[in-house]
Amino acid sequence: MKVSFQIGKIMGIPIKLHITFLLILPVFALIFASNPAPYGFSNVSEVSTRYILAFATTILLFSSILLHEIGHSYFAKKYGVKIDSITLLLFGGVASMEEIPRNPAQEAKMAIAGPMVSFTIGTMCLLFNGVISGLQPSFSDGNIFHVIWLLGYINLIVGVFNLLPAFPMDGGRILRAWFATSMSYVKATQKAAYIGKMFAFMMGIFGIVGVPGLIYPNPWFILIAFFIYIGASEEARTTTVSVILEKVPVQKVMSSDIVSVQPSMTIDELSKLMFEKKHMGYPVIEGNNLKGIVTFTDMHTIPQQERANVLVSDVMTRDVATIPIDADASEALKLISTRNIGRVLVTDNNSIAGILSRTDLVRALQLLSE
Ligand code: ZN
Repeated sequence: MKVSFQIGKIMGIPIKLHITFLLILPVFALIFASNPAPYGFSNVSEVSTRYILAFATTILLFSSILLHEIGHSYFAKKYGVKIDSITLLLFGGVASMEEIPRNPAQEAKMAIAGPMVSFTIGTMCLLFNGVISGLQPSFSDGNIFHVIWLLGYINLIVGVFNLLPAFPMDGGRILRAWFATSMSYVKATQKAAYIGKMFAFMMGIFGIVGVPGLIYPNPWFILIAFFIYIGASEEARTTTVSVILEKVPVQKVMSSDIVSVQPSMTIDELSKLMFEKKHMGYPVIEGNNLKGIVTFTDMHTIPQQERANVLVSDVMTRDVATIPIDADASEALKLISTRNIGRVLVTDNNSIAGILSRTDLVRALQLLSE
């Protein structure tokens, strides 16, 4: 199912709307519209104006979140990071980019650019509203100027929220960049993730008990705490894994004992071969050409009684993922996870030198993290 829709391009980056965003849009508009305080319309003809303003507020709000993400992306592009897309979803935006630069100064600039955009929009809106309502006080209630006030206020909150010193917030990245000036990147990530988790823990408690006599318990804080806890753990894990695997050449972890099969082989014959050789994946070769790859999972999709009549060429994957023998294991992991496959073929010039599976990578990780 298609979950996001492209609406245009900015700086060459596709801008997408996630399905959750489309669902939340009317809800937001309804909340803004049904709140009598900012708009204060009562008679029928003014009610429609109220809805138009509420809708405008929602659109402007998400446009400013988009600008926040564009702030990050501007610096990312400047430092040569490739950005696949910016997606607006339920609560905010996400710029999906390649690996973030491991240069503290660059990472910090990239991270802070977003909140800076939010603060700039927020301050400009509030100043503008202040000037207008200062000149004409009656303007400040129940019309377009209230939209500007609300927009300014929410942008300031977005800026502050993103500066929380915890992954996956921008503040977490700034913290890591700061730690990374005096220690290794992995250590800095782990330290920043640890602080993020502590922060999430405190926020969770705050959400459950509140501050006696001051703030009521609030389930939102518990939800945000969960979000931060998971984000921090994930960041620490993926960074550690990719830094460890970067030092490992593909050649060291692949299995070079490869058994290839012919496209004309039947699944019956393939299953016998699998029991004998005990490999889970086999390159399919005809003459000297690589035709595809066939795995245990492909074989398993064919019922026992049909296996004599189905050929390897009917079930194999034709679009084979390959990686050169001089690559490192983190590149192999990236390929395996982005394409969501079980194994890649390792090539040396034009011949197959080995096969590298997810299991090989996990085993290498277990050994190396000892
Ligand atoms: Zn941000």
